Amino acid sequence: MSRARYAAVMADRLADWLQAVDALYPQNHAASWDSTGLQVGDPDDPVRGVLLCLDVVAATLDEAAARGADLLLAHHPLLFRPLDRLTVATVSGRLALQAARSRIAVLAAHTNFDSAVDGTTEPVVRLLGLGEVTPLAPAAPGDGDCKLVTFVPPEATQRVRSALTAAGAGTIGAYRECSFQVRGTGTFEATAGANPAVGQRGRRNEVVEDRLEMVVPQGRLSAAVAALRHAHPYEEVAYDVLRLLGATDAGRGMGRVGDLAAPLALGTIGQRLAVGLPSPHLRVGGDPHRPIRRVAACGGAGDALIGAALDAGADCYITGDLRHHVALDARSAGMAVIDAGHYATEAAALPLLQQALAQAASRRGLTARLLASAVRTDPWQIHPGGGWDTGLDKGAP
Ligand SMILES: [Zn+2]
Repeated sequence: MSRARYAAVMADRLADWLQAVDALYPQNHAASWDSTGLQVGDPDDPVRGVLLCLDVVAATLDEAAARGADLLLAHHPLLFRPLDRLTVATVSGRLALQAARSRIAVLAAHTNFDSAVDGTTEPVVRLLGLGEVTPLAPAAPGDGDCKLVTFVPPEATQRVRSALTAAGAGTIGAYRECSFQVRGTGTFEATAGANPAVGQRGRRNEVVEDRLEMVVPQGRLSAAVAALRHAHPYEEVAYDVLRLLGATDAGRGMGRVGDLAAPLALGTIGQRLAVGLPSPHLRVGGDPHRPIRRVAACGGAGDALIGAALDAGADCYITGDLRHHVALDARSAGMAVIDAGHYATEAAALPLLQQALAQAASRRGLTARLLASAVRTDPWQIHPGGGWDTGLDKGAP
């Protein structure tokens, strides 16, 4: 076997990386309007290098090619709106074609990463040392996983478990084929038209059965039920689907709100963020001397959560892409605002994604190199000047 052939055999498959990313940031944790997961590529293709970036632009695709990465894992989806043609007439079409021609797969982890426990707001939480942190918009309980419970004759339990695993059930974090079973007695009476796999028609039967339980992401529930029906020997398969509340959703959601250990002046918070985030154009709205105790934050563009920040009693809201009227209304409602930049808040979170994925890859025996993009995709640069006063703080507390 030639060296090249050997290398090709040993490379990870794209499908392996899709599973690793989905286990950390399940696609069904993404917002319903979002577009995540594999956007360009063939799951059977080999992967030797993975490049993490915020945005797919020509420069990040060139960088991937130059650094030997055949998978670009981007935070922002390259393909966001449905396409009715793939041509160079649109930016996303041109980039998708460039990716395909270069045999670079594109995978997006967007709001499923935002809402993760160590998601895009975590850098601000850590920089300010916030305590008692909770999500600003908690994930709806049970929008992630279900539990599928079924009752199987013991000789078929392993077959059913394997079929459910293959259909996507039984994954908890980095663990696969997670299940619980307990043996008991099932009863039934098969009527005249039935064709029972065990027991007899026309009388009450008692049979030994295993109760088998496995978690299933909601998005894979129908595939799992189909696999269950196929693998189960009974004519009528008894199963329950339970929506799970609590544990898997704890701490997950968009944005965070928490308390500083001791009050800090708004200006000091701005200074700390300006130093700690890759943010050359951080904007602070509020009296810089105002003491801040309770802080809400949302990495990326957090306009939509400003009401939640107010409801949570935040003295200050930190996000990116704050629009004029939203910021003005927040100020009028007595809350200071800091626009630390969409790029800056999210770029600071990429190392968390890299760290989590590196650990997951190592546990799974994946060998592709994991690289962080060096291309800065912040569309803004600073224009020196300014220095106007705002009238909003006259007489403000
Ligand atoms: Zn973003």
